[in-house]
Amino acid sequence: MANPLFDTLFGPHLDRDTPFLKLADGASVTHGDFLRMAARFAHAITDAGLVPGDRLAVQIEKSPQALAVYAACVQAGIVFLPLNTAYTASEISYFVGNSGARLLLCDPRRADALGPVAEEFAARLMTLDAAGGGSFAEAAGGKPETFETAARDIGDLAAFLYTSGTTGRSKGAMLTQGNLLSNAEVLTTHWGFTEDDVLLHMLPIFHTHGLFVATNIMLLCGGAMIFHPKFDLDAAIEALPRATAMMGVPTFYTRLLSDARFDRDLVRGMRLFVSGSAPLLAETHVQFEQRSGHRILERYGMTETNMNTSNPYEGDRRAGTVGFPLPGVELQVCDPQTGAPLPQGEIGVIEVRGPNVFEGYWQMPEKTAEELRENGFFITGDLGRIDEDGYVSIVGRGKDLIISGGFNVYPKEVELLLDEQDGVLESAVIGVPHPDFGEAVVGVLVPSGSGPDIAAIEARMGEELARYKQPKKLLTVEELPRNTMGKVQKNELRARFKDLFT
Ligand code: ATP
Ligand code: MG
Repeated sequence: MANPLFDTLFGPHLDRDTPFLKLADGASVTHGDFLRMAARFAHAITDAGLVPGDRLAVQIEKSPQALAVYAACVQAGIVFLPLNTAYTASEISYFVGNSGARLLLCDPRRADALGPVAEEFAARLMTLDAAGGGSFAEAAGGKPETFETAARDIGDLAAFLYTSGTTGRSKGAMLTQGNLLSNAEVLTTHWGFTEDDVLLHMLPIFHTHGLFVATNIMLLCGGAMIFHPKFDLDAAIEALPRATAMMGVPTFYTRLLSDARFDRDLVRGMRLFVSGSAPLLAETHVQFEQRSGHRILERYGMTETNMNTSNPYEGDRRAGTVGFPLPGVELQVCDPQTGAPLPQGEIGVIEVRGPNVFEGYWQMPEKTAEELRENGFFITGDLGRIDEDGYVSIVGRGKDLIISGGFNVYPKEVELLLDEQDGVLESAVIGVPHPDFGEAVVGVLVPSGSGPDIAAIEARMGEELARYKQPKKLLTVEELPRNTMGKVQKNELRARFKDLFT
């Protein structure tokens, strides 16, 4: 019986004794070890009463065990639902309640806090830690090292992945086997991954970037991962000479650049650096090339769609752009009001269609209908434009668009200018309520060095920008609020500064 995702990503490695995960302490887990652990876990899951199609929610620290739970779910036909390790018990309660998970797997130290959550929704609670302890590990202990793979169809659900919650409450994106498989296949080919690759993996595995992009590619190509619990500068510097590729969020790259040990010599054996999940500053792209000789490859995707666009592997990787639609992905830029496709060069809402696009939001039929058109296009909510060469750029999120005195202000245009000013490390431009203009443009600056000269920056804005785009106020903050994926949480800034003009 078939299970396309398992048979393609995991099945081919069942008896391989090649290294799959190289851990921080020097130990390594072979492909075969990993799949035997996954098979034992699959027995523990089915013994707990779960049947294909049931949801299993997991909140555990990144570890080989945590990743094996994903493999076990695929093999047993269970819908995998990984959760951010930072979520509190009340946040977890939303996810368990919303998803109807039958089993909640957590770290033994979290069992007391999460017990009542599981009880409230009649889910079973079991525990697992990175050292191989916990009630789930015990249940899996004596189980056979093989498991009869559950039959699944390409259209069956493989995972519920909740969005990062950058713009509001996280939504559960229903992803099928086909969504995951098609993207893994396209990316592996597009970025030239082979079994000789060793990926430095420091991303979380509860998010699409570290879980589906990084892990699925490495499973498909048969290579290895240097698998660290999180980003750590010293560990990255130590590991880079042994790696051939790295995937990261922009902060990984700025942190590497902040360290004098990061130079060409260190990355001699690397062939690819990929960035995504948040915008990479063009300046970072340029500095990175000067220091390392590598041009970072920026790509664009989201929980609901996996990856949509990528800069070319061979060819010009353009700073400030996210490249071209991936093979099989259609992308159009549409008028936010009418939904009509816009002429090339204009800014509008990015819509995508392809085998990568999800089935809808779990138990949110209205939200699904709002964002997923009948013709299959998904309205991403991101604003972007396509240049004359076909490169796509992200201008920002629709929700962050500022309408001041009836005019559209794209925060990114103002941010790029602010970022160039002396004494400014980075900036975020937001709209806050204003009695005359509806919304007023406000620039929030993070100082660098001796800090910004606000009057000089205001004068500069006056020269460079149309009046309606000029910030009505410039403020400084120590740092921008960011979530675990390094995304700036503008809704927090808007809430903090909502009373500036009222
Ligand atoms: P929520 O949907 O809950 O508000 P979120 O959109 O941040 O959260 P994710 O699915 O993790 O949740 O993130 C996808 C978003 O990340 C995209 O819609 C886009 O705004 C942003 N993004 C991803 N890659 C890039 C990139 N290379 N450049 C700019 N933005 C990016
Ligand atoms: Mg989103």
